[in-house]
Amino acid sequence: MEKILVSACLLGIKCRYDGKSVPHEGVMRLAEKYALVPVCPEIYGGLSTPRTPSERVGDSVLMKDGRDVTENYARGAEATLALAEITGAKIAVLKAKSPSCGKGAIYDGSFSGTLTARDGVTAEKLTRVGIKVLTENEIDELL
Ligand code: SF4
Repeated sequence: MEKILVSACLLGIKCRYDGKSVPHEGVMRLAEKYALVPVCPEIYGGLSTPRTPSERVGDSVLMKDGRDVTENYARGAEATLALAEITGAKIAVLKAKSPSCGKGAIYDGSFSGTLTARDGVTAEKLTRVGIKVLTENEIDELL
């Protein structure tokens, strides 16, 4: 079976900043056709759960209280890329809008719920090396 990386929170793992998950029925159905490799870049980067939410602000990633977690996000992206290389995954289904996992649209750094056209740190890194990144809203082509 082809392996694909999947944001762990979409598979029901409670790794989100708020200590919850966002299980997605369609994403879980991908297990019928693919070997799913759960990943959570923010956990890989050393952040705890629950945690203060973060957003990308310019070249940095900041928590809502101002703490700089840029390094954590970078480490998490590196670890996720390493997993892609180890498993040979060429596709990743990642949670929309996350500062790590989001693709094409993420929150804009103002912590006001406003989106901007940008990728999360991990989605950006995977895309740069040619891995196809899809959000949970774009999986029809895989099912
Ligand atoms: Fe889900 Fe990605 Fe956030 Fe982890 S970093 S909780 S996988 S959206």
